[in-house]
Amino acid sequence: MGRSEAALSAASSGAAQENDIGDATWLHFGAVNHLPGCRRRLWRSTILLTGEQGRIGLSCFPFVSTHFLAQATACQDQSLAARGNTAMATQSPEGKYRTLTAEEEYVIVHKGTERPFTGEYNDHFAGGVYACRRCGAMLYRSQDKFRAHCGWPAFDDEIAGAVQHLPDADGQRTEIICANCGGHLGHVFVGEQLTTKNTRHCVNSLSLAFIPEVEVKYGRAIFAGGCFWGVEHWLQQEPGVIATTVGYTGGTKERPTYEDVCTHTTGHAEAVEVLYDPVRVSFEQLAKLFFEIHAPTQSDGQGADRGDQYRSAIFYVDEAQQQTADMLVAELKSRGLNVVTQVSAAARFWPAEDYHQDYFLNKGAAPPCHVRRKLW
Ligand SMILES: [Zn+2]
Repeated sequence: MGRSEAALSAASSGAAQENDIGDATWLHFGAVNHLPGCRRRLWRSTILLTGEQGRIGLSCFPFVSTHFLAQATACQDQSLAARGNTAMATQSPEGKYRTLTAEEEYVIVHKGTERPFTGEYNDHFAGGVYACRRCGAMLYRSQDKFRAHCGWPAFDDEIAGAVQHLPDADGQRTEIICANCGGHLGHVFVGEQLTTKNTRHCVNSLSLAFIPEVEVKYGRAIFAGGCFWGVEHWLQQEPGVIATTVGYTGGTKERPTYEDVCTHTTGHAEAVEVLYDPVRVSFEQLAKLFFEIHAPTQSDGQGADRGDQYRSAIFYVDEAQQQTADMLVAELKSRGLNVVTQVSAAARFWPAEDYHQDYFLNKGAAPPCHVRRKLW
């Protein structure tokens, strides 16, 4: 096991492994980033190992992205029950968009621009997430913010799928809007050579709501439905999914390898851990997608993949997820489907080997093992 794997194994853990969670605190959420030229998706490509004052290392750990995001959250919020569908601070209890002030409406609705060097986040560099001020969707991470000296907050990356790029009405620039609610954010510029990513999201402070790292709430879900390559392929395309990791869970052996699991003696299932923005997607939406992309009625595996490692299962992280999963299973059974999906409490999740991560994304192909058929 290499240095990076050792460090990651030490940090990886399930909810009950608080000591391991403690080990992970130095690899906090604010350290997730990616290297220029990396082929992987932005949100899972690379982790910069940073201290509070700066970088202490630079490595590419694509296979742990969700795990670190999850654990980093757990560092600050030990209660998994507090995750799930936790609403953002800017979302009203009714799920409606936040009521805007006149100046916020000028920018967010009427695509106005705040005066330079006046916004509250222009010179703001605390650790956390910048969400949409209107709907609360997570848009940018603090580690992607940089000093562009342009008068407005500048980011050289976005949370995957959270920002939509459109031709501006001026026919020259590229407007950026919140992918969830369509609120105006600002404009994006490329080719300025300001950072290695060569991109500058120029965003109005009035479009943003900063969430300190300790208050950021991610949703976490774990699904098993046959070969994890195919399950991940579908889940990572769902809007609102921030990161996915394939791995092993529900078994007995610690730090299982793929070869261990293939012996069918460890009890592990091939599974996918999903970290998501609960403002943009719910656990129920993800669970419904899960049922649509595999065969929940097959008891001996999935397709030609036979054995307990390919079993259909939902590993819930809180009571709300359990109730939702049970409800969906009951609904499908009421339609005459003999669903055999197991609904079990989440156990420790072990990230799989690097070559299993993003398998079909890297291959640039659709999985032959998992096709989607609409059930809802
Ligand atoms: Zn929004």
